[in-house]
Amino acid sequence: MATTKNILECLRCGTGYQDPWMFEGCPKCAEEGHNVNLSAVLPVGSETWPGFFRANEQPNGEPGWDGLWRYRDMMPVGHDYITTLGEGQTPLLRLENLGESLGMGALFLKDEGRNPTWSYKDRFCSVAVSKARELKAKVITISTSGNHGAATAAYAAKAGLRCVVFTIPDVPDTIKTLMQVYGAYLIVVPTAQDRWALMRQCIDQFGWYPASGYMNPPVGSNPWGIEGYKTIAYEIVAQLGGRSPEWVIVPTAYGDGLYGTWKGFKELKAMGAIDRLPKMVAAERFGPLARTLELGSEQVSQVEASSSVAFSIANGISTYQALKALKESGGLAITASDEEIMEMQKTLAASEGIYGEASSVIALNIAAKLRTQGQAAADDTVVAVLTSSGLKDTVATAEILPPPPQIAPELAELRQALEQTYDFTAELG
Ligand SMILES: [Zn+2]
Repeated sequence: MATTKNILECLRCGTGYQDPWMFEGCPKCAEEGHNVNLSAVLPVGSETWPGFFRANEQPNGEPGWDGLWRYRDMMPVGHDYITTLGEGQTPLLRLENLGESLGMGALFLKDEGRNPTWSYKDRFCSVAVSKARELKAKVITISTSGNHGAATAAYAAKAGLRCVVFTIPDVPDTIKTLMQVYGAYLIVVPTAQDRWALMRQCIDQFGWYPASGYMNPPVGSNPWGIEGYKTIAYEIVAQLGGRSPEWVIVPTAYGDGLYGTWKGFKELKAMGAIDRLPKMVAAERFGPLARTLELGSEQVSQVEASSSVAFSIANGISTYQALKALKESGGLAITASDEEIMEMQKTLAASEGIYGEASSVIALNIAAKLRTQGQAAADDTVVAVLTSSGLKDTVATAEILPPPPQIAPELAELRQALEQTYDFTAELG
């Protein structure tokens, strides 16, 4: 299905394309040895801004669009195809307690664990699945280590489309259950490379619609879905009263969320809604982007990776789109260890009342490092994107908590249990 204007363009060479079914990156750059994602072309100019935060009513008297689809004019999908579970419009919370202990006066957390399937992937999947309906796709397929699969399965269910999910053994049971309960056909294969290869055959031979990346080396995911992440930027700016933070930290594997959020800020600047852009920071477990920046290379470096509590970002290779967001914004990439991450998960929950997935709380480890390494000033506004809820993997958390003491219902035993298990001795008479 060809149209007369370019609807996708290459993030590296700028070549425009008319075919909406391009999910393997720029063919021109691939010939030159670069694996680069395409990005949706939307008309963005200063004239777009006045109606941008428009009211959410629908003309036919149906309930209004809220959350992500409040920004439907900035999405690459016809309004008749919108598939929504109420994603977006998540809270931006000021972390007073944690911020004070880290010497940060304006530390904020964008709590994406509040989305319908408890991760920011819902923003991506709402747009990707809406586009699948517009393109008359019959079957949606995806390769995932967890959250992306759960979200795709849920939105495919809502859209009435079949969904085949490829995953690897090293995924928490909670997430496998989530994917299956939404009606997806969940298939486990030995390695990440295996799932990409099998998925690619299904796309080539059966015409299935991909909701994730499947190229090796990776280019990133379906460019239509990435547009959904722009709304994280829109919401942050709206929630900060119309200004941009100094820093935005995004847990990063292949950089769909990092690039999508960055694109949102750039659009706001182009529309004159903000006068300056934030620096984007990739929070990485193993650091392919950190390594690439260190080397000053245009090709993303491969680093060694192993299994990790941060299973959603336990990758040793990243993408051009992620690198582009970091370079354009003058940002950086920083890593944290499993031990640091689990400590932060506990600290965040116990000091702020927020339970984030290990792969998400790493954004706060990196916030702390920005401050201790001197990159962020004490009064800089720093936004950490908490990409997913801790409920996705309670088993890993339970391992760092003491078994709850079981006692006879007597004060003496209570006193002993509080002291011995929790070191709690005050306020006991
Ligand atoms: Zn290109």
